[in-house]
Amino acid sequence: MAETIKNTGSHEFFHIVTPLSIHSHEIGEFDYDKPKMSEHLWMYEGLTEYAAHHMQVKYGLIDFNKYLEVQTDKLDNAMRYNDTLAFTKMSKGVLDTYESQYGNVYAKGALIGLCLDIKLRQLSNGKYGTQNLMADLSKTYGKTKSFNDDELFATITKLTYPEIGEFLNTYVAGTKKLPYKEIFAAIGVDFEPVVTVKKAGMGKMGMGFNGQRLFVADIKGMDDFGRKMGYQKGDELISINGKNIPDVSEIQQFLNNLLENMKEGDKLTVVVSRKDSNGKATEVTLSQPVEVHEEKKYNVLKEFPVQSDEQKALRKAWLNIN
Ligand SMILES: [Zn+2]
Repeated sequence: MAETIKNTGSHEFFHIVTPLSIHSHEIGEFDYDKPKMSEHLWMYEGLTEYAAHHMQVKYGLIDFNKYLEVQTDKLDNAMRYNDTLAFTKMSKGVLDTYESQYGNVYAKGALIGLCLDIKLRQLSNGKYGTQNLMADLSKTYGKTKSFNDDELFATITKLTYPEIGEFLNTYVAGTKKLPYKEIFAAIGVDFEPVVTVKKAGMGKMGMGFNGQRLFVADIKGMDDFGRKMGYQKGDELISINGKNIPDVSEIQQFLNNLLENMKEGDKLTVVVSRKDSNGKATEVTLSQPVEVHEEKKYNVLKEFPVQSDEQKALRKAWLNIN
């Protein structure tokens, strides 16, 4: 919950920048009886959501790997929406025709923000990013001065670089997929849309959290391996392969690391606390040789093992590290 509060709190805070200080007429003079929408949700919501997480990595509230995990989540979420629909068109029609696409403002919208920030940093030798752009736009417009939807890109281009105008017209008003590979590479990160990994399974039982421990909540959908392990409903997990189960917020990462690094022939050993019919709990050790299967992983982000000086410099500038 602490993470959610941090994420939502910073997102809402950054709405001071946009739409409060930078908005089009549709928003500035919003007609509550006959609502009209602006084309620029990529900025109002997308840049706001981008800033909410960029701020956290920039000031050390989260580390770089955690930031990349958040971006993978956004890339995964964006896959649930129409990626060939221009974002400006979606935004304009979001009150009716494209209502179902609205959620993408927090996914692809935020990724547009990331791409734009990196592009700006590249063009300005690290000196200028979306934070500077938003400050300049709020000076150009401000809380009492609305812009016309169709003049925004030209204003941004005038404040920045012709390449930025081209970027906005191609990827935000156009239908081309964002250049993730190129953008992530610029800060020393490899982006792979899909990779096949070999992974061991736990047994596909339904899991729950009782406030203290992870427990087996349901064994109806359990697979063959789970039956061999012999999990029982109500078993509380104590350790896996000798490692204590971490805090609930880290469980997913813990399980992924463990299961992706197991090979055919390794053993999975799970110690559970199991209650008998009198309610007395005893520790039971369940153990079986693992069964490895292939699984597809989408939107994998990984730092390049060797970084060029250019990549190092750009990432530092983007994260405001001296
Ligand atoms: Zn918002």
